[in-house]
Amino acid sequence: MPSYVITEKCDGCKGQDKTACMYICPNDLMVLDKERMKAYNRDPSMCWECQCCVKICPQQAMDVRGYADFIPMGASVVPLRGSQDIMWTVKFRDGSLKRFKFPIRTTEEGTADPLGGFAAHDDLNSPALATEPASLGLKEVPTIK
Ligand code: SF4
Ligand code: SF4
Repeated sequence: MPSYVITEKCDGCKGQDKTACMYICPNDLMVLDKERMKAYNRDPSMCWECQCCVKICPQQAMDVRGYADFIPMGASVVPLRGSQDIMWTVKFRDGSLKRFKFPIRTTEEGTADPLGGFAAHDDLNSPALATEPASLGLKEVPTIK
């Protein structure tokens, strides 16, 4: 079930060129209605409920409708991003709450090495991924002869 914007809370990221939800959505779904200064999901059918927009929104103005088997009617699961962890707040249908923290990174922001120290090859016709076969610890990628 897709993400949605709680319009009372959204401030359009104060009119910046790119709002936080636009920046983070891996599916490029979030857009800003500049007249209303409210963001919206332009194609809910394409949303894969990754919750990135929910976690990054500085106003906590985004939520995702969870599937009923995961979040039944009347319950909610809401992530709140901190610098070191995500605080998940689970509200059960009987009104009880449970909160837990989940660590989000072990490296300084901007220091992650996307190739993990392996050199990338540039052979686009190769069946191997960019850092393979070295990152697999192999001399060559196994193929069906
Ligand atoms: Fe609105 Fe939040 Fe998106 Fe900013 S990140 S435009 S406050 S929904
Ligand atoms: Fe994009 Fe994920 Fe938010 Fe859906 S839940 S709008 S895919 S960031």
